[in-house]
Amino acid sequence: MLPEVIKIGGIEYRVKLVDACDEDNLNIDGKILFPNQEIRVKKGLEKQYGENILLHEIIHGIFEFCGWDQDEENVTRLSNALYQVLKDNNVFKER
Ligand SMILES: [Zn+2]
Repeated sequence: MLPEVIKIGGIEYRVKLVDACDEDNLNIDGKILFPNQEIRVKKGLEKQYGENILLHEIIHGIFEFCGWDQDEENVTRLSNALYQVLKDNNVFKER
């Protein structure tokens, strides 16, 4: 179950499960639309894959917030690495 809202840099992005994230490219599984304050994730994805897609879009949002170039390779590397570390170590679990 993905969160409904993700707050990045004071802006709340609604997380929407959609049939098509981008009407012009049906191969895209996630997309962040900054002016719409919206993160789209394709419906029906497997759990971990969908979580990874959401984290990827969140990283795009963080890059935007920080004023960094939206370098797709860096976003992918960072989101993949973060997903593994956060998931495998239960970093924020109540102890
Ligand atoms: Zn991307």
